[in-house]
Amino acid sequence: MTASSFAQGVYLVAAVLFVLSLAGLSKQESARRGNVLGMIGMGLALAATFVLAVDRSERAPVVTALLIVLVLATGAVVGTVRARRVEMTQMPELIAILHSFVGAAAVLVGINSFLTGQQDAALLEGLGGGGQDAVHLVEVYLGVLIGAVTFTGSVVAFLKLSARIRSAPLQLPGRNLLNLAALLVCAGLMVWFLAAPSLAPLLLMTLVALALGWHLVASIGGGDMPVVVSMLNSYSGWAAAAAGFMLGNDLLVVTGALVGSSGAILSYLMCRAMNRSFVSVILGGFGAEEGTVVAGGDADLGEHREVRAPEVAELLRAARSVVITPGYGMAVAKAQYPVAELVAKLRAGGTQVRFGVHPVAGRLPGHMNVLLAEAKVPYDIVLEMDEINDELAGTDVVLVIGANDTVNPAAAEDPASPIAGMPVLRVWEAGQVVVFKRSMATGYAGVQNPLFFRDNTAMLFGDAKEQVERIVAELVEAGVRA
Ligand code: NDP
Repeated sequence: MTASSFAQGVYLVAAVLFVLSLAGLSKQESARRGNVLGMIGMGLALAATFVLAVDRSERAPVVTALLIVLVLATGAVVGTVRARRVEMTQMPELIAILHSFVGAAAVLVGINSFLTGQQDAALLEGLGGGGQDAVHLVEVYLGVLIGAVTFTGSVVAFLKLSARIRSAPLQLPGRNLLNLAALLVCAGLMVWFLAAPSLAPLLLMTLVALALGWHLVASIGGGDMPVVVSMLNSYSGWAAAAAGFMLGNDLLVVTGALVGSSGAILSYLMCRAMNRSFVSVILGGFGAEEGTVVAGGDADLGEHREVRAPEVAELLRAARSVVITPGYGMAVAKAQYPVAELVAKLRAGGTQVRFGVHPVAGRLPGHMNVLLAEAKVPYDIVLEMDEINDELAGTDVVLVIGANDTVNPAAAEDPASPIAGMPVLRVWEAGQVVVFKRSMATGYAGVQNPLFFRDNTAMLFGDAKEQVERIVAELVEAGVRA
C-alpha cells in the first residue's frame, strides 16, 4: 500500500468520526462521546497527514518529520497550558481567538499556494506549458478573502468578549456603503488577479478584507455578539475548506464544510432565537440603527427593593413552584454547585423546581446547560425558554441568578430599546422574582433593566455563589434535608 492510499483510507475513517462527533454533540447525554470521537478522528487525521508529508517530502524525510514534530509539540504545549488555565467564563474569547488562527492560516496557505503555483507555472512555461489554472486561482483568492475577514473579525470579537474594547457598536457614517464598497473593490481586484495573476491584487485584496472583517464585527452591538461568534465559527470552517482545496487535502475540505455548515445552522438558530434577521446582524443593523437613541439609560425607573438571604429562604420554603433562570453571573460566580444543592433541598421538600434557560444566556451557546450538567442537575428539569415561558405566570417564585439581558422586559415592551424584539424569559409574570447580582449595573448589552424596579421583584445583592450558599445554610438550619 502506498502512503497516499493509506492516508486516503485513514482520512475516510476520520471524516466518518467527525460526522459521528457532531451527531453526538447535538445532545447533552451524548456530548462527551461526541468529543471523544472527534478527538480520535483528529488524532488519526494528524497521523495520516504526518505519514503523507514525510512520504512526499523533497528534503530528507527525517528532517521533515522532525520539523513537523517540533511544530506539533510547540502547538500542543501552548494549547494544553492555555486550555488548563482558561476559566469557563473565558471560553467564548478563547474560541474567538482560535477562529482567528484558522483565518490567519487560510491567508498564509493561500499566499503560499499562489507563490508555489507561480514557480511551477514558470517552470512549465520554460517547457512550453501554460500559467496557473483559473480554478486554483479562484480557490486561492476566495480562501484568502474569507481567511482575512475571519482573522480580523475574530480578533475584534475576542477584544469585545474579553472587555478589552467596549462592546458598543462602532457607528461610522454610511457603514453599509463602506461594506458594499469593500466587497466591490474585492470583486474588481479578483478580475485583475484572474486576468494577470500577480501578488499585487492578492495583497491589496488581503488588506481590504482585513479592514472589512474588522469593520463588520466592530459595528455589531453587544446583544448580537452571540450570532457573530457562531458566524465567525462558520467562516473559519469555510476558510479551512478553501485551504483544503488549495492543498488538495480532502479531509480538510470535509472538516471545513462540516464546521462551516454547522456554524451557519447555529447562526440561523441563534438569529431565530433572538428574533433577528441574519442579514441585518451581519450588517450591524439591530441595536445600532443610525440615529437611534439608546433607551433606558437615564430614564427614572423608580425605586428597587432589597432582600436578604434569610427572607429568600423563607419565601422558597413557602413556594410550591420555583423556576431558576441562570445567566452569565452564575458562571462568573461558579454558583452552579450551591444552586444544584439548593435545588436538591427544595425538591426533597416537595417543591417543584425547574430551570428556564435562554438560548443566549451566558457568553456561549449552551453555556448554562454545560454548567448545570457539570453540577449534576438532572436534565429533565432544565427547560428551554420556549418550554418554560408560558408556565412562568403560574410560578410562585423565580430566582434570576446572574441573568440580566435575557430577562429584560424592555425587549418585549419598549420598541425603542436596543434589544427590542429579542425574545426574553417573561419572569416578571411570576408571583415573586428575586434577582441575584452584585449591583444595579447593566448586563452585556449595556441596557438598564426595568425588571429590577417592578413591585414583585426584590434584589439580593452580592456574589451569587455566596448568597445561594447562605440560603442553603438557612434551609438546613430550618430542618430541610436533601
Ligand atoms: P448579562 O450579561 O446580561 O448579565 C449578567 C449579570 O450577571 C450582570 O448584570 C452582572 O451584574 C451579574 N453578575 C456578574 N458577576 C456576578 C456575580 N459574581 N454574582 C452575581 N451576579 C453577577 O447575562 P445574561 O446571561 O442574561 O445575558 C447574556 C448576554 O450576553 C446577552 O446580551 C447576550 O446577547 C450576550 N452574549 C451571549 C453569547 C452567547 O452565545 N450566549 C455570546 C456573546 C454575548 P452585576 O455586575 O451587578 O453583578
